[in-house]
Amino acid sequence: MLQLKKLTKTYKTGDQALKAIDLEVPKGQVLALIGPSGAGKSTMIRCINRLVEPTSGEALLDGVDLVKLGATGLRKTRREMGMIFQEYALVERLTVMENVLSGRLGFVGFWRSFLRRFPQSDVDEAFRLLDRVGLLHMADKRADELSGGQRQRVGICRALIQNPKLLLVDEPTASLDPKTSRQIMRLITELCRERGLAAIINIHDVALAQMFVPRVVGLRFGEIVFDGPPNGLTPGK
Ligand code: ADP
Ligand code: ADP
Repeated sequence: MLQLKKLTKTYKTGDQALKAIDLEVPKGQVLALIGPSGAGKSTMIRCINRLVEPTSGEALLDGVDLVKLGATGLRKTRREMGMIFQEYALVERLTVMENVLSGRLGFVGFWRSFLRRFPQSDVDEAFRLLDRVGLLHMADKRADELSGGQRQRVGICRALIQNPKLLLVDEPTASLDPKTSRQIMRLITELCRERGLAAIINIHDVALAQMFVPRVVGLRFGEIVFDGPPNGLTPGK
């Protein structure tokens, strides 16, 4: 479903963040991207959703090359990719419900769009998602009243309401304590399974990856140095 072919990113500074990455992610597969800081994990995720322009290579989502898309195609295809961020990127002054609904507007909506009314079907789906992640009772709270774990659960709902094919998850637990981190990883991986969603989860914490995903891809200096089930990993590698 997602195929990276010789995907390369060299920043203007000369940093070769990705060196000809080849990777296939089948439909419904969840994988963790691990590796030390600076390995190229964020760059890879950002090249796939084109927050960063790849230097060369291809990134095919169901056969469509994301690297070649113009503005219109990109807007459409980004709706097929849900993003979950380390720092949640919620709109603080909006409610939980509004933040979830903003996912329907595509990639991080503008608050002004709330002057528009959402169809009841979107509102119903938002309630279902909030119920699934245990936040139904918080729907009318403002985002700035939430704990970190609650914020990330809102971030998950916002990504899922787009009904994406692929989830791109950038360090979802980096700002959370260990117990909340496990809850969030469990929730993300369970929801992917329930919905048959593929995901790439960029995560620092190898132990956390090992607990929840069937496939781990290790990056180092912009190259894939490991690709396999997590039990094949040895500590320190
Ligand atoms: P992480 O390693 O957690 O992904 P970083 O601390 O490396 O994040 O980067 C934070 C931000 O700074 C990102 O937006 C990244 O693109 C940018 N950045 C990282 N390294 C450089 C660099 N050498 N020059 C310019 N910007 C950078
Ligand atoms: P990771 O997410 O694994 O920590 P990054 O993708 O953030 O790795 O960074 C990979 C490499 O690219 C690092 O050498 C980093 O300094 C560099 N880099 C990241 N973002 C930028 C940027 N905006 N400009 C220049 N170099 C960057």
